[in-house]
Amino acid sequence: MDHGTGLFVDGNWARGSAVLPVADKYTGDAIAELHVPGPDQVDAAVASAARSAGGLPAAERAAILRRAARALDVGRAAILAWYVAETGFTPADATGELDRTLLIFELCAQEAERLTGEMVPVQAAAGHDDSLCFTLRVPVGVVAAITPFNAPLSTVAHKIAPALAAGNAVVLKPAEQTPLCAIALVRALLEAGLPERLVQLLPGPGETIGDRLVRHPDVRYVTFTGSTAVGRHIRAVSGLARTHLELGSNSPTVLWHDADLDHALPLVVRAGYRKAGQVCTSIQRLLVHEAIADEVTERLAALVRDLPYGDPRAPGTLVGPLISAEAAGRAEALLADAVGHGSYLLTGGARAGSMMVPTLLSGLPDGSRLASEEAFAPLLAIASVGSLDEAVHLANGTNYGLQAGVFCQDLDVALTFARRLETGGVVINDTSSTHPDPMPYGGVKDSGHGVEGPAYAVRDMTESRTVLVRHRGL
Ligand code: NAP
Repeated sequence: MDHGTGLFVDGNWARGSAVLPVADKYTGDAIAELHVPGPDQVDAAVASAARSAGGLPAAERAAILRRAARALDVGRAAILAWYVAETGFTPADATGELDRTLLIFELCAQEAERLTGEMVPVQAAAGHDDSLCFTLRVPVGVVAAITPFNAPLSTVAHKIAPALAAGNAVVLKPAEQTPLCAIALVRALLEAGLPERLVQLLPGPGETIGDRLVRHPDVRYVTFTGSTAVGRHIRAVSGLARTHLELGSNSPTVLWHDADLDHALPLVVRAGYRKAGQVCTSIQRLLVHEAIADEVTERLAALVRDLPYGDPRAPGTLVGPLISAEAAGRAEALLADAVGHGSYLLTGGARAGSMMVPTLLSGLPDGSRLASEEAFAPLLAIASVGSLDEAVHLANGTNYGLQAGVFCQDLDVALTFARRLETGGVVINDTSSTHPDPMPYGGVKDSGHGVEGPAYAVRDMTESRTVLVRHRGL
């Protein structure tokens, strides 16, 4: 597949004002050079989108999304190769995300077909016995979508597919480090017959391109996934645009004393170390009932020690490099801080460039940065808990609140966790990282606001228009 200039503005693959190099995250080889728009091109993209939004019938929007999914499936081999190169994630991660993307497109197509308003019982007001009141869902206009590096297919799909399903035009600013998959998605939509000005693609740095985009007064809705710091900034500068912010996390998963460890531990390993821990819902804190803490520590250390890491393309690798040496350096600093506060290093700990060996700690002392900040690395700490109150207290003890997992067979205990954990989602008998795409998904506290999931996002990317019909019965 040809990545072209990567910059798609006002219906054309355009040349920009600067060049964005894209590297293979494992080999470091240059794999592409994309064009970065100048400020005028950012404005032109929004203006073009604003002129084009609305007007495409729902059935056509649904058909386009379905055809785009088929085009992605047909082009799968090239897309997977781009994905592995630009992320450093494994081919299995790539396949999983592409398959999710196809499902997200299909679910959004279905939502386009059933998007509707509601009847309003105005007869409760005196004099309105014969009035009819109902609402219409109308597109908001221009949706700005800004995405992070760590899920360049599924997160982008969770933004552009609902935006288009709802009848909007979308201006996409993908992560600088992983823009190639976004090109594949845009190409598939164009191939599927999307009117070309309904999607605009702006590769380039967030601080300039992204910032100008979210400040633009014609952007009506900003859907953003990324760090809490950037989310706060976007919220502050985006004026009256509605925002949906999917932000950082430091996700806990609880292993209660009755957990089935043969079932749970392999899932914990995947959720802690897949994509080198660079998943917003990765387990960073494993809260283990003290009755099973010794057994869990011993078994988990053995599993993590054996994890294949290194070249993401080598068969069997689960843990590839981090997105950059800087990211690995930040994780190493969190690790040193935790050990300095009294955590015990069970396995791993070494780092070379962007590669960090899968690392497991026991103990998560109060005051350590790992207890409160986000590591976004193959770094997991076990903390022993003696009671439900203690587990809830620890789990809720960060500013984040995205998703939590609870392995527990006792329904009363499991549901008590579900009620008391301050997170957008609680997964019973699986990890914090489990996320079937149809479900409502989003954080609370510093993990953001708004929910993703086709049924929720499509509706949220519309406005409600109320129609009141006054008539007198004859
Ligand atoms: P990031 O640094 O916040 O970047 C996210 C996006 O924002 C990128 O496209 C970035 O552009 C752009 N950006 C940066 N500064 C901006 C500005 N001033 N105005 C507008 N846009 C700006 O996050 P990341 O490192 O890519 O991703 C990791 C973070 O995402 C973690 O915190 C993780 O927890 C979070 N995340 C959350 C979820 C969730 O569902 N809650 C899912 C996935 C990831 P550049 O790439 O050019 O910097």
